[in-house]
Amino acid sequence: LKEQANVSKAAERMSLSGGQSHDMLPPFTAAWQYTDAQPLIITKSEGIYVYDREGNKYLDALAGLWCTALGGNEPRLVEAAMKQLQTLPYYQSFWNRTTEPALELSSQLINMFTASPMAKVFFTNSGSECNDTQVKLVWYYNNAMGRPNKKKFIARKKAYHGSTLISASLTGLTPLHGSFDLPVQWVLHTDTPHYWRNANPGESEEDFSTRLAESLEKLILQEGPDTIAAFIGEPVMGAGGVIPPPKGYWPKVQEVLKKYDILLIADEVVTAFGRLGTMFGSDLYEIKPDLVSLAKALSSAYMPIGAILMSQHLFDEIAAHSNKLGGFSHGFTYSGHPVACAVASECLKIYQERNIPQHVSQVAPAFQEGMREFYKYPFIGEIRGLGLIMAVEFVADRDTKAAFPTDWGVGTYFGSRTMAHGMLVRVSGDIIMMSPHLIITEGEVKELVSKFGAALEDLAAYIEEKRNG
Ligand code: PMP
Repeated sequence: LKEQANVSKAAERMSLSGGQSHDMLPPFTAAWQYTDAQPLIITKSEGIYVYDREGNKYLDALAGLWCTALGGNEPRLVEAAMKQLQTLPYYQSFWNRTTEPALELSSQLINMFTASPMAKVFFTNSGSECNDTQVKLVWYYNNAMGRPNKKKFIARKKAYHGSTLISASLTGLTPLHGSFDLPVQWVLHTDTPHYWRNANPGESEEDFSTRLAESLEKLILQEGPDTIAAFIGEPVMGAGGVIPPPKGYWPKVQEVLKKYDILLIADEVVTAFGRLGTMFGSDLYEIKPDLVSLAKALSSAYMPIGAILMSQHLFDEIAAHSNKLGGFSHGFTYSGHPVACAVASECLKIYQERNIPQHVSQVAPAFQEGMREFYKYPFIGEIRGLGLIMAVEFVADRDTKAAFPTDWGVGTYFGSRTMAHGMLVRVSGDIIMMSPHLIITEGEVKELVSKFGAALEDLAAYIEEKRNG
C-alpha cells in the first residue's frame, strides 16, 4: 500500500512539473504551497538567450541573476575550466597553502581595482559569503585595534547584500527580515538614496544628498560614533529596485564616514566589471572603499566564486596589531577553488582584452534612451538606470506615485507578457528590473526594447480592462 501511495505521489508530481518529478525547494519562491507547481526549466544557453525544455527561446534580460556577463557559451571560459579540471580539480587554501590560479586571480584583481589602493584578496563562493566575511574582517580589525565596542554596521533601506543570516541583516528589504527574526540588532538601516521617490517637492538632487548625509550623521551621533564600525553600500542599488545615487551622494556620505572613522565597504557584486560603463562602480562615483565585495560577473557565473578586496591601510594596520588575537580563523573549503579561480581569471582577461566597459558605454544609449521612450505610457512612474542596468516602476498615478491595487498583480502580469514575447525580466512588485549581458549588441538591445514595448502594449490593455471594472 505504501508503495502504491508513493507511485501515485510520484505520478502527481510528474504531471505538475511537465513529466519530471520536482523535489526541489526553489529559493525565493513565493509560498510553499506553490513549490511543486511546474517550474520553468532552462536547458540551454546561447549568447544572451536561454532555451526552456520545450524549445522556447528567451532573451534573458536579467543575465541569469545579474551575472552571466559574457553570455551563455563563451568557449574560453569552458576551456579554462576543462584545463584546470584536468590538472588540479581541487586543492585548498588554508594554512598558507594554495594554488596558482588563486594567486594569479588575486594579483589580477589587485591590479584592476584602482579607485583606492588594495593589498589583499580573500576568496569566498558567493556575494553573501563575501558580506558575512566583511563583518568578521571588520570586527577582527577593531578587536586588533583595541576598539571592542566599534562593531555596529550601517546599511541602507532597500539594499541587497545577500541572504545568509548576516548578509540578510545588512539587506534592507522587509521580506528578507520579517519571517526570520532579522535584522540582528547591531545592523542599522539609513535612508534609501531614491530621489524620485523620496525627495521633498522642489528639493534639488544635491540638496537631497545633503539631507541624507545629515540624516546619516544624526544616526551615527545618536548611536555613538565609537560604536559604529562600517557602512556598506552598493554603488548603484540593485535588487532593491535599481536605484542610482543622486548627484553628490557618495562624496557627501564618504565625508561623514571619514569624520567618524567608519570603514566603507563597497558591495560591487552587481556593479563590477563594466555594468555601469566603468570597470567598477567605485570608479564612476569616486568611491574610495576600504573593502570591496565581488561575485557574479567575476566568473561570468560559470563557476561560483566571490572575492573581497582589502585596502592597503587596513591590511597594514591589522598586520601591525593582530599578534594579540591569533590568526584570522575564518574560511571555506572552497575559498580560492582552483577551477573557479581559473575561470574567473580568464574572464577578467576577456573583460580587459575586449574592453567590456567601453562596449557597455557604446550600447548603453540604445538601451537607456530606447527604454525612456516608454514614458509615453502614463502608468510608468520612473524609468531609471545607467549603463546596462535598469528598472521601470509602474504606478497608478504618475503625479502622486500611488501604487496599483496589489490584487491587480500588475508587475506579475507584465512579467508573464514578457515571457509570452520571448523575454525574461525580474519582477519585484510593480518594479521591473533588467541587467542584460555585458556582451549584448546594439541590435539585440533594440530587440529587447521592442519586446518590452510589446509587453507594455498588453499591460496598457490589461490596466484599461481593470479600470473599466
Ligand atoms: N550583494 C549584492 C549587491 C547582490 O546583488 C547580491 C545578489 N543578488 C549579493 C550581494 C548576494 O550574492 P549571492 O547571491 O551570490 O550570495
